[in-house]
Amino acid sequence: MADCIFCAIANKEIPSNVVYEDDKIICFKDLEPQAPVHVLIIPKKHIASLDDVCEEDAELLAHIMLKVKEIAKILELENGYRLVNNCGEDGFQTVKHLHFHLLGKRKMTWPPG
Ligand code: AMP
Ligand code: ZN
Repeated sequence: MADCIFCAIANKEIPSNVVYEDDKIICFKDLEPQAPVHVLIIPKKHIASLDDVCEEDAELLAHIMLKVKEIAKILELENGYRLVNNCGEDGFQTVKHLHFHLLGKRKMTWPPG
């Protein structure tokens, strides 16, 4: 999608620090890390948010979820991690292309701010 920064990253039009990639998804380091390890997992297909997924995306979403533990292993998050999706205005979603934050290598707190 035009004017989408994460589509531009998926299409290699702008650089990113790629941790994992396959035909459906790409995982890259967040520019402003909130933990010692902070990466974003995105579908290459443009989907605006979790609120915009449809039935035909079910396989893609399952693929993302099944890859999380593989990516966590690559990043050596053997002590655990947090997976976050910010959705919409109240969820403080700033980039309107579905993405999951994978954070680790520090003790998380609860509840989130
Ligand atoms: P969210 O607030 O959930 O929409 O998260 C968007 C995330 O994208 C933030 O953590 C930003 O630091 C990150 N971000 C924005 N632009 C880039 C970029 N070009 N490369 C890597 N991360 C980015
Ligand atoms: Zn996009």
